[in-house]
Amino acid sequence: RLYLDHNATAPLRPQARAAMIEALDVAGNPSSVHGDGRRARGIVEGAREALAALCGVKARSVIFTGGATEANALALSPAWHDASGPVYPDRLIMSAVEHPSVRSGGRFPPRQIRTLEVDRDGRVDLDHLDRLLAEGGTPLVSVMAANNETGVIQPLAEIGARVAAVGGLFHVDAVQAAGRLALTPKDWHASAISLSAHKMGGPQGVGALVLSSSAVAPSALLVGGGQEHHRRAGTENVAGIAGFGAAARALADSSAEISRLAGLRALLEHGLRHICSDSIIFGADVERLANTVCFAVPGVPAELALIACDLKGVSLSSGSACSSGKVGVSHVLSAMGVEEDLARCALRLSLGWTSTEADVARFLDLWREVAGRLNPASVHRAA
Ligand code: PLP
Repeated sequence: RLYLDHNATAPLRPQARAAMIEALDVAGNPSSVHGDGRRARGIVEGAREALAALCGVKARSVIFTGGATEANALALSPAWHDASGPVYPDRLIMSAVEHPSVRSGGRFPPRQIRTLEVDRDGRVDLDHLDRLLAEGGTPLVSVMAANNETGVIQPLAEIGARVAAVGGLFHVDAVQAAGRLALTPKDWHASAISLSAHKMGGPQGVGALVLSSSAVAPSALLVGGGQEHHRRAGTENVAGIAGFGAAARALADSSAEISRLAGLRALLEHGLRHICSDSIIFGADVERLANTVCFAVPGVPAELALIACDLKGVSLSSGSACSSGKVGVSHVLSAMGVEEDLARCALRLSLGWTSTEADVARFLDLWREVAGRLNPASVHRAA
């Protein structure tokens, strides 16, 4: 099969698989003081170091969780503390294009939630942010680094500077940015960022909330044992964390890989426009992740195209995987002002470490056939 859905889950990297297999044979509980426990603890702490190095923070700032949904839920707390004591954000400001796990609002009641608008390219409206920040109080602002559906990158440093100026807290869902953008929470003035192993070539069901400094943290979501310095109770997923750490190490120097993906994406987009000259690529005019293409061809319904591609052994996505299965258009495209009819034609192709030029060529051949069948008028015949 041809896998073009890395933003949903990236295939497991061989380094992650090897680290997990080794960790599965360690019997100890990382909290046990005996030798087996210490071995398990060593695996967890080694992975913590790798994650911390990827984000330019100290190891103690990394809180392992059961995925990014949990990391987001942990961050969206109305009770935090920093070096000077407790901080109680009185409202949550989140962008209109956040992942559903942020859009749920975490532990904030709906009356304390404000939605920050985005422009037609999907970037947050900084004037609107200024107006929301001018309401006073202590906001917690949550904006993703890059969108899972369109790949559009947000102006994080500008947002973070504004939030810092009013003494607010800033959370960044950086799930799609890992390995595709430098993770620099300090430059973003971010209090905390969320990561997910399975978007980086690690396993599903493990993630992290990475604090910019271990002095700033949200109140715990899961309490009980004292794991993760009392910030996340429960015996650690040692094998999962081992795979996460190995994936983080594999991303340590990703600049060559980012350029390679940008080259593949350029080929893909050139091909899409050549096959259907009225192809629309969402977010094409702004900075986007090098691996993501969200596009639509009017009159080629995404759900039918997706099934046709699947039958030919090609995996891709319509909108986000998390919302597929639900009828209704992508909230991301709606927030960007995309009309419903066009949004129903939107497909997402997301590349990654397994992707090659041959994959792009195979997809384009298939796309000519599928688009030509679903809407014969859309395809450029002379090509
Ligand atoms: N945030 C973003 C931007 C995502 O794309 C996803 C996954 O789809 C998540 C959060 C949730 O991550 P997880 O699957 O680890 O719970």
